[in-house]
Amino acid sequence: MHATKALLILRNGLRCMGCGKVAEYKDIQWHHIKPKYASKANHEPVDDSYENGSLLCKRCHIEIHKYLWWDMEYQLLTDLIEDNKR
Ligand SMILES: [Zn+2]
Repeated sequence: MHATKALLILRNGLRCMGCGKVAEYKDIQWHHIKPKYASKANHEPVDDSYENGSLLCKRCHIEIHKYLWWDMEYQLLTDLIEDNKR
């Protein structure tokens, strides 16, 4: 497991930062707030920092990636995630 995902779980447990439900270990996913595709498009390294990381259940991870990261809906979900992150 990547060190950032491990730290996210250590500090936050297996609770989804989107819907608040506790997920099974296999279903908790590491979400990059600034998505990997956005960094790649700008020819920047992917931001794997704790600050750019979050934990989402499978369902919420699919949901947030229905939007592009500059969409209002993406920003609203990101605000919620950040409120739920320790
Ligand atoms: Zn969720």
